[in-house]
Amino acid sequence: TPSVCAPLPVLGRDVTVPLVTGGEVTYAALDYAASAPALQRVWDDVAAYAPYYGSVHRGAGYLSQLSTDLFENARRTVAEFLDCREDDQVVFTRSTTDSLNLLAAALPADCRVFVFETEHHASLLPWRSAQVTYLDAPRSHREAVETLERALADRDPYGPALVCVTGASNVTGELWPVRELAAAAHAHGARIVLDAAQLAPHHEVSVAGLDVDWVAFSGHKLYAPFGSGVLAGRADWLRAADPYLAGGGASRKVVRREDGGVDVEWHDSAARHEAGSPNVIGAYALASACTALTEAGFDTLAAREQYLVRTVREGLADVPQVRFLSLFGDDAPRVGVLSFVVEGWNSSHFAAALSAEYGIGVRDGLFCAHPLLRTLLGSDPQAQGECGSPESAPGEKSLNAIRVSFGAGTPDEHVERFVRAVK
Ligand code: PMP
Repeated sequence: TPSVCAPLPVLGRDVTVPLVTGGEVTYAALDYAASAPALQRVWDDVAAYAPYYGSVHRGAGYLSQLSTDLFENARRTVAEFLDCREDDQVVFTRSTTDSLNLLAAALPADCRVFVFETEHHASLLPWRSAQVTYLDAPRSHREAVETLERALADRDPYGPALVCVTGASNVTGELWPVRELAAAAHAHGARIVLDAAQLAPHHEVSVAGLDVDWVAFSGHKLYAPFGSGVLAGRADWLRAADPYLAGGGASRKVVRREDGGVDVEWHDSAARHEAGSPNVIGAYALASACTALTEAGFDTLAAREQYLVRTVREGLADVPQVRFLSLFGDDAPRVGVLSFVVEGWNSSHFAAALSAEYGIGVRDGLFCAHPLLRTLLGSDPQAQGECGSPESAPGEKSLNAIRVSFGAGTPDEHVERFVRAVK
């Protein structure tokens, strides 16, 4: 069957790039997992609003009022998109990385953190000031849940704990059993934050339905431009924490004391962690993307994306040199993200050839998930090229793979060209 619906219009559809073999070709952006092209509709919404934007929460002028309304409406749109609980807060941040660092800064005293070694560095690294338990890579959903349950049950002392887990891997595209992990966390008195950077662009995310305490994602992977992200979820830890950034907007009242110092009352709302003039256009664009995806329908988008996943898998099934990477098995449910190595090829050279000879943009390297790549490739001489990837230390033998990823804006032709090129 052909793919089930037309791709959504995105920016960059007509960009042409030169080929080393001569001539030029339209660029096939197959690195959506890094950053997806903005939806045309998001761009149009931003262009329509841009002449009117003004400072938010600060001015009596008409455009300041308008911008404040749009900014706060964007917050409500995101809350609806994520199916948040009534008391949840939606904090606008710069990115998923920023969101998780904000949560890390808001951990209560003596909070332990549990994280699988398979996570993206953005989920793996922000917790360094807490005591972190890194869990071994599981090989099935069941093993993931059992590993987490064991670690949480064995924690000593049995105090506050946070689990951080991704919804879909940025390396293998595989879905993680978020609902089951959330249930395990809660059964053991822990909280859980979902890194939805790769999940939210492809799947409905329901904070209430999954019963996660927080969710983080980035606008630039969700078909909005760079510079906006979200941390949404439970208000209590966020309210109890010092502001992530100190400054105007986060403070309700600042008074000079008689002894010369200052007393500050901080806001209890999301503004507590949004000091400074916020990225109004970014929040507006992100909310516009949420609306566009909801209207397109995740079932429709997922059906189309699964068609493209099958096109890659079936198209390359008769190429024995290609080995796809997975933790949970080749047929595990996944989003449109696939990583692989090719026998006889250094992955960086292979990716460079796809670009230079076919105008195809993929990612090569370790995908900011070094421990996972070592687990998946460590014993595979195939993946160890002669020249270092940008992510290998000087002198270290390179360890790298190739990642192809796509989504709502990908035309069939890009994926078909990719299959042809790899063959
Ligand atoms: N988590 C995952 C699973 C990711 O794929 C990424 C981006 N590659 C991030 C977090 C970080 O996102 P950002 O760079 O937008 O902060």
